[in-house]
Amino acid sequence: DLISNMNQGVSNILVAVRCRPLTKKEKEIDDFKTVQIIDGKLVFITEPPGPINKRLIENKYAFDFAFDETASQQEVFNKTTMFLLEGVLNGYNATVFAYGPTGAGKTYTMLGEVEKLGIMLMSFIELFARIEVLSKDRNYTVKISYLEIYNEIVRDLINPSSTCLDIREDPDKGIMVSGLSELIASSPQEVIDNLRIGNKRRTCEPTEANQTSSRSHAVLQIIIEYKEKNTGIEAEQFSGKLSLIDLAGSERAANTKNRGIRLIEGANINRSLLALGNCINALYEANLKGIKSYIPYRDSKLTRLLKDSLGGNCRTVMIVCISPCTAFYDDTHNTLKYANRAK
Ligand code: ADP
Ligand code: MG
Repeated sequence: DLISNMNQGVSNILVAVRCRPLTKKEKEIDDFKTVQIIDGKLVFITEPPGPINKRLIENKYAFDFAFDETASQQEVFNKTTMFLLEGVLNGYNATVFAYGPTGAGKTYTMLGEVEKLGIMLMSFIELFARIEVLSKDRNYTVKISYLEIYNEIVRDLINPSSTCLDIREDPDKGIMVSGLSELIASSPQEVIDNLRIGNKRRTCEPTEANQTSSRSHAVLQIIIEYKEKNTGIEAEQFSGKLSLIDLAGSERAANTKNRGIRLIEGANINRSLLALGNCINALYEANLKGIKSYIPYRDSKLTRLLKDSLGGNCRTVMIVCISPCTAFYDDTHNTLKYANRAK
């Protein structure tokens, strides 16, 4: 199966689609659903019937996983993230990101809500539980950093300051964000509190398309360091990193009647998302053909930051969030096309 293929290195990229339920309000306006999920893998998208088109146009896409509206937070976590943790606890890097238009369920999936914990928090609970067992033989340290990339500017969400942070590549330490705070985490609750506070600091300003659209990419990095105990000599330190990313809304700048700063911002969001798509696509091709090829990491801040966490022996999971709502039809279709390119 796919996860075992991935474990054997056949493919290091997993693409899952998650379709959220219609909200109460959406059901009242129009309960036509544009999305159908079949067999946990196939996504059918149907153009809503309108005055011009009477014909229902269907497109079909296949993914590693497709979750319908009934999928629980736990199920999504188990199938997309759980299998990455062993590697991260043994010095490997992995990345999970949520992609999709504003309002499609990215933050719900990554951060979650009260009693509906998302992937970020479930990862911590599971990591701390496993570390407790592994601590018999190893000394572990868990550190977190939380930043946003907004308009190609990197800002610290844990320790905010007005300065824009620089992404550098250190010969020894690899990719580094200079000045970014790293917090030593000792319990899941402590992390939950920090993420809640950090999230309130994300750049959110109203646009005509959505009152509270998040147009920044939020990047949580969990750094797991360990040394073997009782080696007799000074033990070597190993380090794994799990990057969990709530991407900015993928709707196009053209969809919102933006001018000036908002328009520039739209272009910058697309720059990072486009660069991400291009990197993943290039990695997938290289993987498939078993060749080393040029990966355009330098094209955006997001991809520069993730250079050590995408490709190579890193695993990447893309969770594509979509809405079945008629009003989202164009965004949903564009999102599925982007995701289809990534696998
Ligand atoms: P995004 O971060 O992509 O803009 P949100 O995560 O904020 O979208 O989700 C938009 C709305 O839909 C929120 O009110 C959220 O509670 C709801 N929602 C999203 N996904 C689900 C889901 N799988 N189940 C129930 N409600 C969801
Ligand atoms: Mg959001």
